Amino acid sequence: MYRIRVFGDPVLRKRAKPVTKFDENLKKTIERMIETMYHYDGVGLAAPQVGISQRFFVMDVGNGPVAVINPEILEIDPETEVAEEGCLSFPEIFVEIERSKRIKVKYQNTRGEYVEEELEGYAARVFQHEFDHLNGVLIIDRISPAKRLLLRKKLMDIARTVKR
Ligand code: ZN
Repeated sequence: MYRIRVFGDPVLRKRAKPVTKFDENLKKTIERMIETMYHYDGVGLAAPQVGISQRFFVMDVGNGPVAVINPEILEIDPETEVAEEGCLSFPEIFVEIERSKRIKVKYQNTRGEYVEEELEGYAARVFQHEFDHLNGVLIIDRISPAKRLLLRKKLMDIARTVKR
């Protein structure tokens, strides 16, 4: 199990570095992240959220856990939809976010093999959310300043819990 890093922790704002070693250590880290994601009832968890500034995440949108390493979004459909999202790094905050309905992605699995996929709906949404984490982008960056202002107190309360 990992401790989840919450809003205010500087690691969440860093641009994560590519994964270069596809070794046992990476597999163990991914297993631990999957365990942590399930423990907190998450559908996705990115490495920076457990303090690891590297480009990978895990997700499970109902078809079992998937590890996504060094992801790229190759195509992004201009058609979007709005839906509510939460984030384990923002406990008790839910915001409506507009995202593309369909994306074409490429990533590596734990063996380092390349995978290309087309995702839509919920899977596309979760992928985009986790992908954002690898670039230091958070859900509050995808809402209007007015909505962000309404969350100010909650955000300050979360940031105050960050262990330094
Ligand atoms: Zn998140």
